[in-house]
Amino acid sequence: MGMTGRPTHTLAAAVARYIDCGSHYNGQRSNFGVVASVTQLRFAQKGTKGLLRARNDVLVLQCVAAGGDRCSRTDVARETGLPQATVSEIVAEMIERRLVREAGREAQRIGKPRVLLELDSDHHHFVGVHLGRGRIRASRLTLTGHIVESTTVPHMLGDDTLATIATAVGRLAKSGDAEISGVGVAAPGIIGDDGTIREAVNYGWRMMPLGQELSRRCGGLPVHVVNDANAVALSEVALSTVDVDTVVVLWIGTGIGAGIVLDGRLYRGAEFRSGEIGHIDTGASLRCRCGLIGCLETVAAEPTIVGAASESDIQQFLAGADDADSRALGERIRRAAQALARLLSTLGGTLDVTDFILGGPFSSHPLAPAVLGAVNDVLAVRVMSGFSPLKVRFTTLGAHSLIFGAAAHAIRQELGVMIAMPAGLAEGVPPEEGSVDSGG
Ligand SMILES: [Zn+2]
Repeated sequence: MGMTGRPTHTLAAAVARYIDCGSHYNGQRSNFGVVASVTQLRFAQKGTKGLLRARNDVLVLQCVAAGGDRCSRTDVARETGLPQATVSEIVAEMIERRLVREAGREAQRIGKPRVLLELDSDHHHFVGVHLGRGRIRASRLTLTGHIVESTTVPHMLGDDTLATIATAVGRLAKSGDAEISGVGVAAPGIIGDDGTIREAVNYGWRMMPLGQELSRRCGGLPVHVVNDANAVALSEVALSTVDVDTVVVLWIGTGIGAGIVLDGRLYRGAEFRSGEIGHIDTGASLRCRCGLIGCLETVAAEPTIVGAASESDIQQFLAGADDADSRALGERIRRAAQALARLLSTLGGTLDVTDFILGGPFSSHPLAPAVLGAVNDVLAVRVMSGFSPLKVRFTTLGAHSLIFGAAAHAIRQELGVMIAMPAGLAEGVPPEEGSVDSGG
């Protein structure tokens, strides 16, 4: 009679993981009051009644979320170890707050039919926003990850970014009856706990209070900001049909970065600079835009790999041409692959990560499969004894990953839970260029 949505051991692990979750999610305002501070939650085990209750709320919600629509109050009590009466009381309050609802009854061989619970997908919606090249994309998602509607607003460097995001969020907020309960923004740069962009070179931002400012412009909605590579990593852990909880996203675009999720937790580092790998030394001899010599970006960033190759050069290369341009392009790919593979095997050996994902703007470039293949070729011959082979793959979520990751971050910050959203993959409507469109 266990939940059939997910294997029970996975659910138990998810719950256990959450209890232990670190201090990365704390200090941010929450509309729900479910989780004021995870640091506080750690003390809740022997702390005040209120904090204990907050912890229990999160456990119950996480359990219902992980159970799909196959989860009864009895299942929740068994999985969380909470008394049945406590579970019933928490569930009643969550139904009233429209976070959870009854999903119907399931007949049992013995006794009365059990009432199944599921997340209430009709009330609390979250917006995921991505600041991309030339445009800002935003989608409104249900608690179960179903994209209800999307919009895209053109945006060039130098435009008023805050105003553009607020416009996008405003478009989504205007339609539909459901309440928007939080906004997640995936943005480039080094991002602090409070949603301040400490530094984003391409945007020329330093200590820019994006979360706070945007919240003000969006009528006080809670806004949570996450680095874009981290958003992809989160989406892969929260949403992917591949069951992973430790993953490193290699972000390649004009620059190079990484998003690191360890044991289901975003790892942000002592000063929020985790994944700032673009300027580590590869031993190459080229001078980097940062002034140092031999940075990873000098051999493996998109502009370096592509070089002066035109679209037709690239097509010829991919068709197997052997002219000088194609050989030069092949050489740049080989050089990039070697540097990336060396980095990944270092990370793999240091962190015990085997699952790497290629993300960022370059991942949709026609040359990306060639680079991915070349990196995997180098990794395949460097398997250390006793270690699983390292591999890099594309994200399973494609263009959705940033929007989903941003929304997952907002949901986690607001509700304290990481919600699996596979429904969004099958049924979601990805943002289209230029206009609001509805679906699902
Ligand atoms: Zn550099």
